[in-house]
Formats: sequence, C-alpha cells, structure tokens
Amino acid sequence: MELPAACLFDLDGLLLDTEPLHAEAWQRTSSHFGRPLNDSELLSLRGRRRLDCAEQVRRWIRETGLTVPDSEALLAVRQPIAEALMLQAPPMAGARSLLERCAALQIPMALATSSSSAAVAHKSTPHPWLELITVRVHGDDPALRAGKPEPDVFLLAAERLGIAAELCWAFEDSPAGATAAVRAGCRVHVVAPDGLGRGSYPDGVIWLASLNDLSF
Ligand SMILES: [Mg+2]
Repeated sequence: MELPAACLFDLDGLLLDTEPLHAEAWQRTSSHFGRPLNDSELLSLRGRRRLDCAEQVRRWIRETGLTVPDSEALLAVRQPIAEALMLQAPPMAGARSLLERCAALQIPMALATSSSSAAVAHKSTPHPWLELITVRVHGDDPALRAGKPEPDVFLLAAERLGIAAELCWAFEDSPAGATAAVRAGCRVHVVAPDGLGRGSYPDGVIWLASLNDLSF
C-alpha cells in the first residue's frame, strides 16, 4: 500500500458539498441584476475565488447590455444569500473518514482553498472534523499572488508543510483547481461532479468516483 507524503485538500466540492449552493448564490445574484446564468456558466465558476467569479459575472452582465454593478454591489447582494446557504452544506462522501485516516497515519495535511479565511470559518462551523487540517492557504492569504488555475495555492500549501509539491497528493473537484494542482507538480486526484466531462480537466489526473475510492 502506497501512502502519500502529504495531502493537499481543496474544500468546496471536495470536502464539503458547497458547490450547488455556490451556484445557487451566483444564480440568484446575477438574476437580481437581470442576467440569469446557464448551467455551463455556473460550472465554469467552480473552484475560483469570489472576486474572480464576480469579475466573470460582471462580464456576462455587461455582454448582455445591462447596467453593470461594481464588484462591491454584486458581492453585497451575494453575501447574505451565500452565508445562509453555506451552513446547509453536507460533507462529501468519504471526506471525514479520509481526514481521520490521514491524522491516524500521521500524514501531513493542508487545505488549499480559493475560499477566504472568513468564509472557511463560517462554513466549517457545523463540521469540527475539518479542524484536523491545521495548515491552510486561503484565497485571501496575503502570501498568495494568484488564485486557481494558477499553481500558487498548492505551491504555498506544500511549502508550509515543508514537503516538495511533487511528493504531495492533491485532491480536487474543479477544472480550475485540478489545473492549479497539475501546474504545481502534485499527484492530482479528481472527484468530478456530475455534468463535467473528463475533457474539461487537464491530462494526467487520477479519477475517483468518490473519496471512498482511495486504497489507504
Ligand atoms: Mg472545489
């Protein structure tokens, strides 16, 4: 049985089933400004930082010829919607037992998320098992230069563990996140959501039906 030197975990859609809720929050926000989003637009927002998503939604609103809100106004509409929804997010299948197994086997773990520190704290409230991961890189980390799909989140997480990124196993659900982890040189495992084909992901990833599929 092969054990990872370290595990780098995405959060949204990988450990917590927040992505349908994120999609609903963006849908309600964009619709508020007169521009409902279609399924492929919503899928393309996965894994990205809130500000990067806000810029994309503003582009879509602009392309439709509607009055474009600034990012602040857009996020002010989204914030209360998202906050209320996120507390409903259940764990992804196998997530909690995987973290508990890593802890028992003393495999170093880090969180490599696009979510801000405050957003992670909020959605973790019903999930104290997430505290098993103490090393964290957030989307608003002052040391972070660029969000996913750039590799920085994973490189910084590996650096904070003191383990070469090439030796780390990364776990992702989104194309942007998987691309980031591949660029960082990690061994990348993907739990793909329904609705996204393998063609949306970079080459060379390992496919899992769920986190229960791991052999350690
Ligand atoms: Mg994700």
